[in-house]
Amino acid sequence: VTDDECIFCAIARGQADASIVHEDESVIACMDLQPVTPGHLLVIPKTHAVGLEDLQEDIGVHVWKVAHQLARALRRSGLRCEGINLFLADGEAAFQEIFHVHLHVFPRFTGDSFRIDADWRVHERAQLDKTAAAVRGGLAAPNASQP
Ligand SMILES: [Zn+2]
Repeated sequence: VTDDECIFCAIARGQADASIVHEDESVIACMDLQPVTPGHLLVIPKTHAVGLEDLQEDIGVHVWKVAHQLARALRRSGLRCEGINLFLADGEAAFQEIFHVHLHVFPRFTGDSFRIDADWRVHERAQLDKTAAAVRGGLAAPNASQP
């Protein structure tokens, strides 16, 4: 998918329909077309980036800031909102469906239909330490997109 074919780039250019709640120089926020609950928003950087690997960190910071503001707005909106999830799917295995990075912000309430199914068992400290070492190795590795 090139920038020309990307639906979120089209929304950012004002060339595709969207119910917009916020726009500034670097991000746009609009209603998700398939809301898991009423109030489900997407915060989308205007510059095309597939995922976290190619998203500029300063843009990522701004995406989070707008999501934070929108989460507060949802609490004051009158929409049913007993809690809020921020959810970012980076990669197909993580349920990313549109390959232009975006952060979901959506209200939660008792009895809603959103589920994350997982094995939540506690792991042993030795295993956690081994995993932490792998992540520290990743932090030390060169990052092509964030010099
Ligand atoms: Zn795009």
